[in-house]
Amino acid sequence: MQLFRTIFAAVALLLIGACQPTKTVNRSATTAPKNIILLIGDGMGLTQVSTSFYFSDQPSNFARFKHIGLHQNTPTDAKITDSASGATAFSTGFKTYNAAIGVDSDTMPQKTILEIAAAQGKSTGLVATSSITHATPAAFFAHVANRNSHEDIAADFMKTSVDFTAGGGLKFYHERSDRKDFLPELAGRGYQIDTSTLGQHYDASKPYIALLAADGLPKMTEGRGDFLPKATQMALQHLSQNKKGFFLMVEGSQIDWGGHANDGTYVIEEMKDFDKTIGLALDFAEKDGNTLVVVTADHETGGLALSSLQAFGRSDYGQINPTFSTGGHTAALIPVFAYGPGAERFMGIYQNNDIFGKMMEGFVK
Ligand SMILES: [Zn+2]
Repeated sequence: MQLFRTIFAAVALLLIGACQPTKTVNRSATTAPKNIILLIGDGMGLTQVSTSFYFSDQPSNFARFKHIGLHQNTPTDAKITDSASGATAFSTGFKTYNAAIGVDSDTMPQKTILEIAAAQGKSTGLVATSSITHATPAAFFAHVANRNSHEDIAADFMKTSVDFTAGGGLKFYHERSDRKDFLPELAGRGYQIDTSTLGQHYDASKPYIALLAADGLPKMTEGRGDFLPKATQMALQHLSQNKKGFFLMVEGSQIDWGGHANDGTYVIEEMKDFDKTIGLALDFAEKDGNTLVVVTADHETGGLALSSLQAFGRSDYGQINPTFSTGGHTAALIPVFAYGPGAERFMGIYQNNDIFGKMMEGFVK
């Protein structure tokens, strides 16, 4: 009878186990992402996000997120942050001073999530519509005291393992004041290199770098086309070949530039492009199941408002009129959208540098 009971209990347990959806069987594993896609909309506050609900014929991909939070981005030396200290907070977990790239407030270099992922055998990638040496991408691989040291930043790139890179900044690798040329050096290390067309010399089995403009890439309104979504799609295919996982940072760099220019159309078109790219990242993560997607910004730019039109002393609520309050950045709290394993950690209100720890939890051993 005892034996019968034991067998019965074992069979019952097996049946219960078989009926459980696999997702709930191993609860701890569901909060540990194998892959991370961090999408940074530079200068993208809540109003910039809102444009994707009002100025696009496509449903906004932001609406696909369930786990949403806010971060405060104050740097160590000012009230309002720039992109360098903002991105360094995400990449290293340290709040720092404006203009700092991958260094803390004492200018001490701090390891970045990209470097830590690479050291663990994961693949890494960077995609941006600015120069790869521009503040946001630079903060993931370089350690320099000032963001304007583009050539030093490119030199730091040469010390890092980045498996897939696409953006601008060719002149900082190729037409340098010290007459060094990093392209032959990269080719010698087995890199496939493109300087005019994305994917022209692509080989899935080799590291890849596309530097498609001397500095930043063209605006969407000047014909950049589908560079950002296409490069992101290529990066995801390339990096997901690694069974150990990957870290990919994608920046919609020019949302910020539209804000600085107080140009509503510039912001709206850059946001559409970024929104489309977010959609691809989410599609990948939904299929994959082990990928954490985090979408946020370093800061808001322009003090953008989606204002009503003022005419003849009256407010016209029939139209949205983008207006700006500054040519610089603002101190507004910044939304964070997360999907996938660990997404719950991004709910609530926290500091910008907390995003590093929230991403790292379970990502590396
Ligand atoms: Zn800016």
